[in-house]
Amino acid sequence: MATYKEFHQYSIEKPNEFWTEQAQLIDWKEPFTQVCDYSRPPFSKWFVGGKTNLCHNAVDRHAAKRPDANALIFVSTETDEEKVYSFAELQREVERMAAIYQSLGVKRGDRVLIYMPMIAQACFAILAATRIGAIHSVVFGGFASGSLATRIDDAKPVLIVSSDAGMRGGKAVPYKHLLDEAIELSENKPAKVLMIDRGLDKGYNKVAGRDVDYATLRAQFMDAKVPCEWMESNEPSYILYTSGTTGKPKGVQRDTGGYAVALASTMKHIYCGGEGETFFSTSDIGWVVGHSYIIYGPLIAGMATIMYEGTPLRPDAGIWWQIVEKYKVNVMFSAPTAARVLKKQDPAYMHKYDLSSLKHIFMAGEPLDQPTHEWFMGELGIPVIDNYWQTETGWPMLAALPGVEKTPIKYGSPSFPVYGYNLQIFREDGSVCGPNEKGIAAVIPPLPPGCLSTVWGQDDRFVSTYFTLFKEPLVYSSYDWAIKDEDGYFTILGRTDDVINVAGHRLGTREIEEAIQAHAAIAEVAVVGVEDKLKGQMPMAFAVVKDASKVATPEMVKALEKEVFGTVDSILGAIARPARVHFVTGLPKTRSGKMLRRSLQALAEGRDPGDLTTIEDPSTLEQIKNALAG
Ligand code: ATP
Ligand code: MG
Repeated sequence: MATYKEFHQYSIEKPNEFWTEQAQLIDWKEPFTQVCDYSRPPFSKWFVGGKTNLCHNAVDRHAAKRPDANALIFVSTETDEEKVYSFAELQREVERMAAIYQSLGVKRGDRVLIYMPMIAQACFAILAATRIGAIHSVVFGGFASGSLATRIDDAKPVLIVSSDAGMRGGKAVPYKHLLDEAIELSENKPAKVLMIDRGLDKGYNKVAGRDVDYATLRAQFMDAKVPCEWMESNEPSYILYTSGTTGKPKGVQRDTGGYAVALASTMKHIYCGGEGETFFSTSDIGWVVGHSYIIYGPLIAGMATIMYEGTPLRPDAGIWWQIVEKYKVNVMFSAPTAARVLKKQDPAYMHKYDLSSLKHIFMAGEPLDQPTHEWFMGELGIPVIDNYWQTETGWPMLAALPGVEKTPIKYGSPSFPVYGYNLQIFREDGSVCGPNEKGIAAVIPPLPPGCLSTVWGQDDRFVSTYFTLFKEPLVYSSYDWAIKDEDGYFTILGRTDDVINVAGHRLGTREIEEAIQAHAAIAEVAVVGVEDKLKGQMPMAFAVVKDASKVATPEMVKALEKEVFGTVDSILGAIARPARVHFVTGLPKTRSGKMLRRSLQALAEGRDPGDLTTIEDPSTLEQIKNALAG
């Protein structure tokens, strides 16, 4: 199959053959007897009857063949630590952790909640869980006690693994008191808390009988041998909560075999990484990108993976590139938010280093705007590949597939539907849109291997949240608004909640944001629709300027706003012109870097900003309030 189109078509028309071939990329203890069981739509089961284990595929099988090859590279610019673990060393650490779990009473099917910073022990904790068939639920370290408590109550862990503190910008951020408060708040108290003491918060509170010390226990299990538990392919491996951009987070339940196969296939066809190579994802283990492309994906492919604790700007804006040079990174994965941060820095920081090992850099999580995409690709001189997906899917739905065919990149587009996904753009009546017609991106089920099996403990919520867009046809809706051009390239225009209806014209927030971003003075912008008596809705923009001195006086603000209007008029037409452009120094985002448009919109319409448990910096909302009042 020479082209991505043939490859995709084959996956949709002959899914059994296609996925049986992909399934050869992982080890099976027992072969599956059925490729896909779709007898109970919309639930799908993959590789039924097959027995495998994620930890075996990520660690043991490589440790057996290439024990001394690099597996985990931990780099912290917060504590100035660096440590490289070979596959053999990683396996030993994971077995020690697994033995600790067993000594604390964790059994197959039990939940282990992991609330930790980006340290190597977090990786051991994750892999130790899947090793013994326990279900992990990683909660982003940095969520406050309320968010943590809801997740504890939903997942009901028997054990929580945590640490005394994270580090940010060179300062310790104590965790333990947040965890204690969360356990206090929750109705399901875990029997044990395993503490990794980094010595960053001396004298943190220890609860007798419940809290146990990792270093002490590890010393007792130095030679532990804990075999992998063989799991039926559809047994859950983990629960991960969505980012909560649109409201209350959903507990995504992931299977075992389907996920392993899907990730292995993406490492080959999308990320183009294999044995002896190094992967650097700048995400966090608390997000789906961290699960799929810091931990499991690269390791399953036998690559070394970098776990980085630190920011892109400390000690200076060259730190990522220094890591690339030092560890000869071949593939990188990052987010548009981070790219926009780097774009504001001197490119000399990037060019100081030897980046010749780098083949591709992938970006996901939010729309990658055209100017940033073009800038990044221009500076790096390698393909910067946007890929679109969700916590729910676990791996890309839209992406270029350089491992199958090297298709040209179009700035601002995540290219094409990935194999396995029968993804189309639909009109509101359930019919399929033509080229250049805006609609809702949705997938005709069954969902391919590795996508969510259900919402944890709530099968009804799985169906009602994702499969009720139309009566006919049955589709998995991602609630994203999209368009496909005549060459088949997709663009995500924003979430369906974010569509702005101006006097009957439907505009995606993304389109207007792109237009505003085209003005040279603007670093970042968010657009929301605000109720308007005359036109139904009007766009309103909140923009961060690159240089604050450009908006130092009310006259300058007026002048720049006028210029921005002009830019929008010339790109999209006056219909898309925002009612106002408010200049601020920061925008409200989730901890995973997603714009909280629903909160912006609520404030702009004089309503309550809603659930803010996942917001990164609450002070940004104060600025917005002031801007709106002013
Ligand atoms: P919640 O579902 O709880 O509201 P969320 O949708 O932000 O939170 P995630 O799973 O982290 O949770 O994000 C997935 C969403 O992020 C997608 O549905 C889409 O809106 C957006 N997204 C991800 N990647 C891209 C991309 N490459 N281009 C445009 N949008 C993207
Ligand atoms: Mg979502």
